Amino acid sequence: MATPSVLRTIRLSPLTTTSIASCSRSRSFTTSTTLSSASSQMRMLIVGSPGSGKGTQSTRLLSHFSFTILSAGDVLRSHISRGTEIGQRADSVIKSGSLMPDDIMMSLIGSSITSLSSSDWLLDGFPRTLGQAQMLDTMLSSSSSDLELVVNLDVPEEIILDRILNRWTHLPSGRVYNLTYNPPKTPGKDDITGEPLSKRQDDNVETFANRLKSFHKQTEPMLQHYREKSGSILDIDCRVETDPESVEEKGELFVNLRGDTSNQIWPHLLKIVRGRFPHLKPSQSSA
Ligand code: AMP
Repeated sequence: MATPSVLRTIRLSPLTTTSIASCSRSRSFTTSTTLSSASSQMRMLIVGSPGSGKGTQSTRLLSHFSFTILSAGDVLRSHISRGTEIGQRADSVIKSGSLMPDDIMMSLIGSSITSLSSSDWLLDGFPRTLGQAQMLDTMLSSSSSDLELVVNLDVPEEIILDRILNRWTHLPSGRVYNLTYNPPKTPGKDDITGEPLSKRQDDNVETFANRLKSFHKQTEPMLQHYREKSGSILDIDCRVETDPESVEEKGELFVNLRGDTSNQIWPHLLKIVRGRFPHLKPSQSSA
């Protein structure tokens, strides 16, 4: 079975398996993180409940650094738009707010990770279950390339519901807008391409309630798995802790970032990623 994937760089490339953003200038970073916690390859997960801002934060990271985002939801939406067999199944699963089977997801994402080889990557929305996490761990440890960082975006549910209802997406790129916090410059249009924005079919109250239920039932055990693997975890309340430089890091695998808005969480995420992966080159769009 062919396993096309969507790897978000500056724009999505729906039919390619690898698309890595290149960089055009160098920049030096200062960081308070000790060298011992720095890694030579970015192998990172960004997790969190639906609407917690995974897409927003990972796209922001991509505007700073050169690496590849592999978004599970984007991979499925690409299959849907191409009308593949997986896409037909994904269409009804996504509309109902439930989850695709673990083995299908692992084969889609696993083949993309393999194609990325030793380059820097971030997974958005995968793994979502304990089964997927175990399959991913097995695959990575067989190539001695364990995960370096798992970031959980911890946002209160009532705030997420408001976000979901106000969320508009530029489907080809995955760029996300929020009519309250981050409106497009021209109503209904993508800032970069001017193309129309769409409402995701699953961004409604009913489907959201199901997605949250799936999240608690299936994703919580996955989070617990990585908390246990991490031993000590770094838990930052970004609403209170406003200066990221004052947070001491010890290279923890699991980092919990609690906040009400993406803007509260973002400076902490940026500092952590810079410190952990100092080799990352700046992205073209930050030039
Ligand atoms: P997202 O764009 O990450 O919110 O994902 C949209 C929908 O795609 C989810 O609500 C699920 O139905 C499905 N999906 C995304 N990632 C996964 C995954 N890792 N495992 C199973 N289903 C997934």
